[in-house]
Amino acid sequence: MQDLYKILGVDKSASREEIKKAYRKLARKYHPDANPDNKEAEARFKEISQAYEVLSDKEKRKAYDAGPAYFGGQGQGTTWQNIDPEMFAQMFGGGAGGFADIFDMFGGGGSRQQRTAPSRGADLNYVLNISFDDSLKGITTKIAVDKNVVCATCHGSGAAPGTSPVTCPECQGRGVIAQNQGFFALSQPCRRCGGKGTIIENPCPACGGSGQTGARKNYTVKIPPGVKTGSRIRLKGKGQPSGAGGPPGDLYVTVQVAPSPLFKRHGDDLHITVPVTFAEAALGAKVEVPTTNGNISLTIPKGTQYGKKLRVKGKGAPHLKGSGNGDLLVKVKVVVPEELSDEQREALEEYARLSEWNPRELLKN
Ligand SMILES: [Zn+2]
Ligand SMILES: [Zn+2]
Repeated sequence: MQDLYKILGVDKSASREEIKKAYRKLARKYHPDANPDNKEAEARFKEISQAYEVLSDKEKRKAYDAGPAYFGGQGQGTTWQNIDPEMFAQMFGGGAGGFADIFDMFGGGGSRQQRTAPSRGADLNYVLNISFDDSLKGITTKIAVDKNVVCATCHGSGAAPGTSPVTCPECQGRGVIAQNQGFFALSQPCRRCGGKGTIIENPCPACGGSGQTGARKNYTVKIPPGVKTGSRIRLKGKGQPSGAGGPPGDLYVTVQVAPSPLFKRHGDDLHITVPVTFAEAALGAKVEVPTTNGNISLTIPKGTQYGKKLRVKGKGAPHLKGSGNGDLLVKVKVVVPEELSDEQREALEEYARLSEWNPRELLKN
């Protein structure tokens, strides 16, 4: 049995933070993902992880520091050197919820299969299509979600009624198999029972032993004003149930907003293009402009050019966070009549005669 402090390269008086830092540094260096097919690194990584498992836990560290006598029966003079590694592993756990948490810090790679703690149920995603109008005003609606539920026949145990899961003969219910490897006993999840510690001899006929059945569940979702495509609303605990006694996952409702024929949304601003006549643009005018909340009368200043954007404060989409709204940006589009009456044509010809302005002059600048 090696000195756990030496394994992490820290002093006996090291603080929790120092231990964590040392562990992270070493674990990164020796992590199996960073050292594929390197048995030495793998063994070192396990050593480091086990040392950290003990030294990062206040109670376990205290017990370790106190020496084997702490566990009684060993008598005076017993040192860690002559403790059976498997016994050590039992003292300090390493089963459910032990190493799993450490491995989780790194995620992915080969670490997942080591997990033996009851895992959370999977998250679910539901796409909710709503109208543009509802995205601005908010809506409370019902959704029907196809998901798993805990089996009503066996209440999730997976065992046929009148029977119950029995202790796994492979691991005697511990859920892990200890393998003696060098200094330490390594705990591997039991393959026979998948780490549950129990096996089912007579599977429940309703769920086939999985403990879950499919069902359609109705939920009420409150969509706040101001959502846009991609906004997510989380319904905590409404995802898939855990198959291993852990908490259920969450249900995410992702909003998909139908496009509006009039408005385009950029952030919380809404954009609209409004046609005006040459006369309105040149002379200035008050024109009716639709907003998401009824028409407004907008002043077009005289001499307004094609493409000019006029900002109307607070007539955009509601801010999801905080109060108030974005703005409405009105793009002016000068339209030209395709047909003219005789009088209109004469008036325009008169205007042309009077106009000495040649806009092509602008090209010369
Ligand atoms: Zn069942
Ligand atoms: Zn087992």
